[in-house]
Amino acid sequence: MLPHDPLSRVLYIDLTKKSFKVKDRSDLFEKYIGGAGVGIQLLKEECPKGIDPYDPSNPIVFAVGPLTSLFPLASKTVAMFKSPHTGYLGESHAGGRSAVAIRMAGYGALVIKGSSSRPVYLAIHEDSINFRDASALWGMESNFTVGRIIRENEPAAGMRTIMRIGKAGEKLVSYACVTTESYRHFGRLGLGAVFGSKKLKAVLVSGKRTIPTANKSEYRKLYDELYHTAVESPLMKKYHDLGTAENIEPLNMLGGMPTRNLLTAKFESAKEISGDSIAENYLGRRLACSHCPVGCIHIAALRIPYEDETYFYKTSMISYDYEPIYALGTMLGVSDPKGLLKLMDHVESWALDAMTTGVVLAWATEAFEKGLVSEKDTMGLKLAWGDYNTYIKAAHNIMDQPNDFYAALARGVEHASSIYGGSDFALSFGKNEMAGYHTGPGTHVGHLIGARHSHLDNAGYSVDQKILAKKQLSPEELADALMEEEKWRQILSSLTICFFARGIYTPEVTLRALKLTGFELAKEDLDRIGDEILREKNRFKVREGFSLDNVRIPKRIFETPTPLGQLDEAFIRKAVEHFKKKMLEEVAPEKGGAEKAEA
Ligand code: SF4
Repeated sequence: MLPHDPLSRVLYIDLTKKSFKVKDRSDLFEKYIGGAGVGIQLLKEECPKGIDPYDPSNPIVFAVGPLTSLFPLASKTVAMFKSPHTGYLGESHAGGRSAVAIRMAGYGALVIKGSSSRPVYLAIHEDSINFRDASALWGMESNFTVGRIIRENEPAAGMRTIMRIGKAGEKLVSYACVTTESYRHFGRLGLGAVFGSKKLKAVLVSGKRTIPTANKSEYRKLYDELYHTAVESPLMKKYHDLGTAENIEPLNMLGGMPTRNLLTAKFESAKEISGDSIAENYLGRRLACSHCPVGCIHIAALRIPYEDETYFYKTSMISYDYEPIYALGTMLGVSDPKGLLKLMDHVESWALDAMTTGVVLAWATEAFEKGLVSEKDTMGLKLAWGDYNTYIKAAHNIMDQPNDFYAALARGVEHASSIYGGSDFALSFGKNEMAGYHTGPGTHVGHLIGARHSHLDNAGYSVDQKILAKKQLSPEELADALMEEEKWRQILSSLTICFFARGIYTPEVTLRALKLTGFELAKEDLDRIGDEILREKNRFKVREGFSLDNVRIPKRIFETPTPLGQLDEAFIRKAVEHFKKKMLEEVAPEKGGAEKAEA
């Protein structure tokens, strides 16, 4: 990397002692580039083996990469922590202004440890690190209001980000998320709950430093190339026009759209809540993450009347895309777009992860229908497909946890079904709730073997549609294809490139961009680094007790046909077995994996 690049500076913060220090970690950035690569190393160094995820020593790592602030779409921040939802690897990516603000504040990574005795928020204005009292913000109903108050109280020069939790994080819902810039999220694996366990309400970062490049004219040339490709490519146009919500109707037509807890994979009312329909009737504005010319963030404007005032309305601005429409829409049989947006708005304001919340509510509805849970458990709520008003109340109860049933739901379907039964239709993989694809074996094998058990790890849904729809793969070939994709994604997420731009950042372009930031690497180096990062993540999971022996695969996925036909359990288990041999056994302690992980 280039001399004087502040990327190698890592800010270590101790919330218990209210102290901090900055260390030069060029050793890590030179070897693992940044983002996910550096993040997993810092997690391994800082997270003691076997700790409770709510132990103060669980670190929160935020890491960015060398291309951040310099090139378009290098807009993501990678967060790493031990997940309270799965007990294994917690990794989550978000954009907004977070990555550019961290880089311009003069850091490549932040490591936050310890726990405060009273609510705090961190205000990091370049080298000025402040621990502010957040008692007045703790318990506020809406995280949008929290963001606004902090913004008004923290004037800052340059780029500024405010990453904060809602009530779900304060109350340790294991899938609470962290919201940044109101509409972007560090979602899924419970970063919000780790914030809550540390009494950390928010992290504000601001800065306006300059970032060096190796050759100004070459930099400008490559920047222009990337910019034009991004704004002219038909793929990116799709993200700009309707966003990922565009996928609702095609996927539904194919028969790969999980509906009513995957009792079926086609939703009869998909048109009403499709990207087209919401855009036509509700689209209020579009936004972009910093340094992104695409602007895929779609915000609906929903006018809601006050109950007891004639002609008084409030307008809520609600971000939507494919995944929340799936989880809080089709998965719950909600066909009224207004009702769906209202439900999304509530889930957002408490900063619950929308995907997991939807899958949890879907499981609860089926469990209620089947008599596994009673009205006593639901506190009088009659959970029923499509009834968004009842779902809003149930989501509030998940956040608030007034009884054992809602406390169980606040830990996800794996946990709730272990108490109330119904594991056959508890749709989680590696304890993480499923994403909105029932496209074939690729999606579910991908969920099972991905480092985060997320559709973003290896895009199994895409392998189903682009490869398996045309030719057969053996279970081993499928697992290999998914692992290859996941290895390359380690490079993209070490550079903190938005995955939507994966078609733009080819290996050739990536190497040119890296060269301009002082990294002289070859394609083989990228392959080796990607492989190593993926192994390190799996090593961390194995160290924390993860195993695929006797892995639970929800029976429901074999009952509901996919566009590629009925799934074969033996095929999926063979693919998982192959992954286990090729990845997990190689990083297991008896092969030296644990020793390496503890070093
Ligand atoms: S494409 Fe969308 S998510 Fe990706 S960087 Fe741009 S605005 Fe952010």
